[in-house]
Amino acid sequence: MTAAAREEMACRICLSPLNTIGTPPTYMHPIQLDTDGHEPVPVPVSQLDTVRRTCDFCGDPYPTWTLLGGEVSAVAIGTTGGLVQNFGDAWAACATCQTYIDDGSNNKVVDRAAQALGLGKDSQARERIEQLHLAFLDARVPSRTLITTTAWPATTLAARDLPKVRDRLARFYRGNDGLPGALAATDARQQIAVGLDRSRLFWIDSDFTDLAEYAAGKLPDVTISRDLMPSTDGLLVWSRPATSRQITAASWTANRDGWQLVNYRTIGGGLDGKPLQRLREHVGWLAPMSTAQVREQHVLPGDHQAAALIATWLLIAQQAAEVTTAEIDKAVRKTYVRTNRPAPEVRIIRIRAKSTTPTSIRSAPGDSGRPQTNRFWVSGHWRNQPYGPGRALRRPVYINPFLRGPDDAPIKIGTTVRMLSSRKPKPEAHG
Ligand SMILES: [Zn+2]
Ligand SMILES: [Zn+2]
Repeated sequence: MTAAAREEMACRICLSPLNTIGTPPTYMHPIQLDTDGHEPVPVPVSQLDTVRRTCDFCGDPYPTWTLLGGEVSAVAIGTTGGLVQNFGDAWAACATCQTYIDDGSNNKVVDRAAQALGLGKDSQARERIEQLHLAFLDARVPSRTLITTTAWPATTLAARDLPKVRDRLARFYRGNDGLPGALAATDARQQIAVGLDRSRLFWIDSDFTDLAEYAAGKLPDVTISRDLMPSTDGLLVWSRPATSRQITAASWTANRDGWQLVNYRTIGGGLDGKPLQRLREHVGWLAPMSTAQVREQHVLPGDHQAAALIATWLLIAQQAAEVTTAEIDKAVRKTYVRTNRPAPEVRIIRIRAKSTTPTSIRSAPGDSGRPQTNRFWVSGHWRNQPYGPGRALRRPVYINPFLRGPDDAPIKIGTTVRMLSSRKPKPEAHG
């Protein structure tokens, strides 16, 4: 795992980090890992949104920080010989182990490891674990880097919480805790923090998230331009993790070269007590997963990592959205007044109630005037349409993004599920 020497690899199939042996390197699944017997398919970790890493101290499946310490090359512990690890000098720590380490309670970290290994009261084994931990911790350097590839259980973010979520994220970008990859650079982080301060905040409701996710999966190539975006800088949060990438939020920040786009996942789901409190305080709710710099008139392929964000922008731009503002907590408003900031505003994005879909499309064959008592999704598609001065520019417009049926009728869940599947719904299938 010596990051400086060569890049860490993970298996594309099971997303598990791989052990490296020899020169030229051979990559192997960790011995204690239960696989279905597949051969490892090594890819650099930097190419993956999600890596199935575990805490190197206790085996917890949600590691949070990378710590640098003493080089520990290879160790075997346990009566069954079940644990063989190749730690190197970079260890992954879960939020709970990190809290104990910060508080100087290394014995509690050893307790967690002993429990995970089923060692019970075996004091000899405990002693060996402690030696192993200390070999690393005694040479530890004080900095730490956030692990952004951990697949945390989703945390639901409410619209009214967005100012707080945004402010904590901006503070994290300004802070000393490291980020991997392209967001490691201080000036990039400062720029995003400043952009977040002046960002408009958007919260996408669950029906609009369904629509955006579906439309993102069919997105054609898109030419980037300022007028696609609902604001110069922004932070947009979907009501649930969207697309196979499981993105919950995205930010865009104007800079000299265009815009820096960042996708985020929520972190801390399932934690409680002090470890959760610390994580919220030090990081917040969002962790950056991937980033891209885009320019004006840059053509992005439809399967770009920012597809969910771009599809959502386009749907808002073509007025598929109804925009309302969220009630903001009094305490948050007061903090803004006290620090001379304009009152925060969160825009809630819903599907526009008033459909502009032509009647011929709205009534399916065979309906013959039968009143519809439910609204249901129709399978839409993107079409490039001219717009702008002299209608010289082209941008994708989503056709049929609306619900069929009376505006005030409830949305039928069954048909929503069908639309989200890969099968095309039959035009008459609204029962
Ligand atoms: Zn694998
Ligand atoms: Zn741990």
